[in-house]
Amino acid sequence: MIRFDHVSKVYPRTTRPALDDVSASIERGQFAFVVGSSGSGKSTLLRLVLKEETATSGRVQVAGRELERLPRRDVPALRREIGCVFQDFRLLPAKTVTDNVAFALQVIGGRRRDIRRQVGETLEMVGLQDLGRRLPHELSGGEQQRVAIARAIVNRPSILLADEPTGNLDPATSLDIINLLDQINRRGTTVLMATHDDEIVNAMRRRVLELDEGRLVRDDERGEYALTR
Ligand code: ADP
Ligand code: ADP
Repeated sequence: MIRFDHVSKVYPRTTRPALDDVSASIERGQFAFVVGSSGSGKSTLLRLVLKEETATSGRVQVAGRELERLPRRDVPALRREIGCVFQDFRLLPAKTVTDNVAFALQVIGGRRRDIRRQVGETLEMVGLQDLGRRLPHELSGGEQQRVAIARAIVNRPSILLADEPTGNLDPATSLDIINLLDQINRRGTTVLMATHDDEIVNAMRRRVLELDEGRLVRDDERGEYALTR
């Protein structure tokens, strides 16, 4: 589903690569954590998958596409296959929970009745069926992240990227959120999650890719957090 083949990324006006000869492949339906200290290249890796950045060398393949060769006009279709969740939720503050989730579908022009049904099902899946009329500031942090997850999966993407999704949450809430991501993964979505959350990585025992100064220094099938030093 996601394949990195000797991928390096050097940002303009920098000398040290943000990613340095990274090769890894994540199969359809897998759940993988990306760990590493700050600045190790985790966000760069996620941005390459979205084609928000382009590799300096090597090949990135996502959902059957060669991203270096992907015409600009095909980038929106790529991004529709990828849901994204962030540490800071990024909800639209003046829109209700329902409208935050519906927005993505309205943008791509779904029928009103289909949108209502799909939003309802998705809110139920994340456990927010009773909070659809709230505004984001009327929710706890964990609830806001559930809205963001609902928004990310409402059009059934094949890949879910999560960049520190539990970074602003307390440990108990973080566990709820990771269980939700696990449930989404078990329904077939490939999940790639960058994190500093050692408790969660150790509780899940899923695949762990570790970056250190841009290099892939570890790829464990059922890994723990402990950073290689
Ligand atoms: P992480 O997500 O693990 O903290 P990043 O991928 O954000 O790591 O950063 C990896 C390296 O690339 C760091 O040295 C960072 O300073 C650098 N970097 C990230 N984005 C840019 C950018 N837009 N321009 C220049 N350097 C960048
Ligand atoms: P947390 O301790 O996780 O931050 P809060 O104390 O913020 O949670 O919220 C606890 C409950 O109160 C949540 O179910 C949330 O939906 C509700 N709530 C919080 N703020 C408001 C508000 N301004 N209006 C209505 N309900 C709220």
